[in-house]
Amino acid sequence: MRHKQVRIRATISPHAVDPPNTRLLRSRGTLPNSMRAVDLIRKKRDSGEHSREEIDFLISAYTRGEIPDYQIAAWLMAVWIRGLSRAETKALTEAMLHSGEVLDLSNLASRKVDKHSTGGVGDKTSLILAPIVAAGGLTVPMISGRGLGHTGGTLDKLEAIPGFNTNLSLKEFRRVLGECGMALIGQTSEIAPADKKIYALRDATSTVENIGLICASIMSKKMAEGLDALVLDVKTGSGAFMQKEQDAVQLAEIMVATGKSMGKKVVALITAMDEPLGRAAGHSNEVLECIDVLQSRGPVDVRDLSIELSAWMFYLGGKTSDVDQGRTLARAMITSGKALQKFRECIRLQGGDERVIEDAKLLPRAAFSTVVVSPASGYLVATNCQQFGIALAMIGGGREKKEDRIDHGAGLEFHKRIGEQIEKGEPLATIHYNSDAKLTEAQRLVADSFEIGQEPAVAKPLIRRVLGAS
Ligand code: URA
Repeated sequence: MRHKQVRIRATISPHAVDPPNTRLLRSRGTLPNSMRAVDLIRKKRDSGEHSREEIDFLISAYTRGEIPDYQIAAWLMAVWIRGLSRAETKALTEAMLHSGEVLDLSNLASRKVDKHSTGGVGDKTSLILAPIVAAGGLTVPMISGRGLGHTGGTLDKLEAIPGFNTNLSLKEFRRVLGECGMALIGQTSEIAPADKKIYALRDATSTVENIGLICASIMSKKMAEGLDALVLDVKTGSGAFMQKEQDAVQLAEIMVATGKSMGKKVVALITAMDEPLGRAAGHSNEVLECIDVLQSRGPVDVRDLSIELSAWMFYLGGKTSDVDQGRTLARAMITSGKALQKFRECIRLQGGDERVIEDAKLLPRAAFSTVVVSPASGYLVATNCQQFGIALAMIGGGREKKEDRIDHGAGLEFHKRIGEQIEKGEPLATIHYNSDAKLTEAQRLVADSFEIGQEPAVAKPLIRRVLGAS
């Protein structure tokens, strides 16, 4: 089986809105009516560097619906090709942050901490660490995204739970946070509306994998949460947007610097995405895997990464005096059942059916399944993890068009991890599906994504390095 390079499928996220927002430019005086989007597109196309005022103009006018999608799409592609300088990235992050409200959660006594991942396949740790950290006494006001490119989104996963509402108003968000210490919502017309619009456009125009754009997207919504501290999970490997470790490190450095320049405690963990995280990729099946981990079961990599990220959150949030104590506290929150109890409470407060914790049948499940088997004996030496995400979208577990509805029951189940021995005919993955419209193509993609060799691969560490800790 060959390791093929496949381009990220362009899909459209379901959340384009035109919220009125004049705060940014009003606060700076008058609208710069001499500026035109067309000139700024040309400037970036020709490798120019934007001033802060130009970036403010683009973001503010686009958020208010005064610049059409096609012009921002063209500008995004120019940015993707030419890149953004550090100064432009900072200006873009701040413009997107101030496109909406910056939450003031000072009425809540405990420290506010959050985590954000740059995205991957089977990356489900938010649903585990938010309850762990809230159960440990910190507040987790989490604003998340939907699926982007080949990666899954926290909001889509949560919506597999019948009734779970990820569109809380700010008032409801505050109420849930006050009652249970955690709440998970998406970008709104009130918080980071520019990211909501630009995120959807990047998804549809193959302009996701760019350091400046990822930094601005993540840091604008995270800084709008009114946080004290943030832990970043920056993925590297074949299932990440930054496949090369040096690119992941560069992205991590710029995000850490941006967060620190805004007075926040920020660390970034560079973590492996050479293969899916855990055994499940999809929606219902990922929720079940999270419940398993919260019940002291589940795959070791998911548990270890969730504990590590929680440990850093505890430490940065001042709950423990070092990261090791943070690990101990995180494990205790799982073994005592307190984290699971917190997850249950959050599901109930956000309108979801908490009985899913005992009864998996309440989650949407796929009606059919088919197994992909190994064509040869040997060892699993690598995966083209990005292709798993694309295959998942093909069977309904992702969006190809803005209007597409996610099939929460569709999913992939992985039976082998890199380094494991395999016999010819042994199952590599199971595809769970409802619609077989693109099943053959998805089967081929999944089969092609496993690389079998004759020598065992050396296992790479899950956590590659930590930046910003000093
Ligand atoms: N996650 C985000 O929120 N934004 C990006 O651009 C990439 C991952």
